[in-house]
Amino acid sequence: MLNINNGAAQIKREILVRIAKLQLAGKLEEGVHYIPREMAPRNSEPRRCCIYHDREVLRLRVMARLGHSVEDYDDEKKLAEYAKEALEREKPTEPMLTVLDDACNACVRAHYMVTNACQACIARPCMMNCPKKCIDITGGRAHIDPEACVNCGICMQNCPYHAIIRIPVPCEEACPVGAISKDENGKERIDYSKCTFCGACMRECPFGAMMDKGQIVDVIRKLMEGKKVVAMYAPAIAAQFRAQPGQLEGAFKAAGFHKTFEVAVGADITADKEAHEFEERMEHGDTLMTTSCCPAYVRAVQIHAPDLIPCVSDTRSPMHYTAEMAKKEDPEYVTVFIGPCLAKRKEGLDDSHVDYVLSAEEIGALFVAKEIDIGECEVIVCGQQPTASGRNFAQSGGVAEAVRVRLKHPENLRPFVINGLDVAGMKQLKAFGKAAAEKKPCEANLVEVMACPGGCIAGPSVITNPKVASAQLKKYVEKGS
Ligand code: SF4
Ligand code: SF4
Repeated sequence: MLNINNGAAQIKREILVRIAKLQLAGKLEEGVHYIPREMAPRNSEPRRCCIYHDREVLRLRVMARLGHSVEDYDDEKKLAEYAKEALEREKPTEPMLTVLDDACNACVRAHYMVTNACQACIARPCMMNCPKKCIDITGGRAHIDPEACVNCGICMQNCPYHAIIRIPVPCEEACPVGAISKDENGKERIDYSKCTFCGACMRECPFGAMMDKGQIVDVIRKLMEGKKVVAMYAPAIAAQFRAQPGQLEGAFKAAGFHKTFEVAVGADITADKEAHEFEERMEHGDTLMTTSCCPAYVRAVQIHAPDLIPCVSDTRSPMHYTAEMAKKEDPEYVTVFIGPCLAKRKEGLDDSHVDYVLSAEEIGALFVAKEIDIGECEVIVCGQQPTASGRNFAQSGGVAEAVRVRLKHPENLRPFVINGLDVAGMKQLKAFGKAAAEKKPCEANLVEVMACPGGCIAGPSVITNPKVASAQLKKYVEKGS
């Protein structure tokens, strides 16, 4: 997995901070035009071929951060016009992702390459074991015939000097459902009818060519209009910041939010309902139920593993129950879910109780723009205290455990956790779907699926290393009731 501490991510986050600062100063339309120039000034060292290409890519990144699809790019249109449209729109638009073709490196097809470490050894196991006989050794070095190579990787496995490496296409490799492919110019394109919005491609592309479409402008606008904007933060967000309990609530207040809701309270509702549903289903003779709180997983089932649809729990997600609670308290609330997830943007758009979905990157940028130091924020106690198991939804295994502790007979639970929906995870899913369709007994009766390896603390828009986040989550969970 690409380390979240990388140059492409830093640029994307810096743009968010610049947009937020301009908007808070009431100067978004007049100032947005200068962001590319300020970030790639004359005589600076270009990141690409020249600063003009850098600026063009930055312009597209600004568009995406303003919430526009880069596919709709109009050469004649100024960034100020895009900013104006963002400030006036009523709703975010689909799809949630966009591809910056000028940022895409058009990486060459995944292949194996012989490096300088090749010793042209006497054993030549690469050549001897190649099933297509496409390696020869000339000039003191092995050579692979790219026309004959079938990308099996046997040569790489056999070289004792590790002289053969695999050059991947990172976004294609990250996509577990084959939704990404090259166009006629070698640039990557997403087939949104296959996409689950897991966000793996935007996390893995080292050129930052896949971006989620921002909603920060919409939320700041509501805050500046004095609307009762409420922050509903996912447990994974608590793990993004080093803070005492209640300080995150203090930070939301300092940022202008009217009230804060812990989504872990909604997670408790989900877990209660899911445990009840599990018991009912088993009593009625079902053999398998799966969790339903990860929207990327649910979409993966709907599109790519339909056999499993009847097994997916009917229970709604923690985001839904939290937003429902908030709207019941006051229908005037503007509900903003804050999480590390791209798929939640799609789920939020489809849920009438959820008005906006902010990413971890966006809330982090808002705090920076408003110069909020969470460690210095006042402690505010949230109304309802969630359980430790509700807070632990943020990591893999947490949902199944939350269901287990609520069962009348927990010993009857046989959980199986799919920790990350990569290609192997998709295969496991399909195998469960097939077994369920054929009514064959399964090794598990409850399957928990998290599209992100490790769970939401490793979601595609996190700003804290998942290992650090895991330690911070532990403290947050321990403080649960
Ligand atoms: S968001 Fe996930 S499913 Fe969609 S194109 Fe990217 S990697 Fe593939
Ligand atoms: S594991 Fe969490 S962050 Fe990742 S796609 Fe699912 S809900 Fe979103």
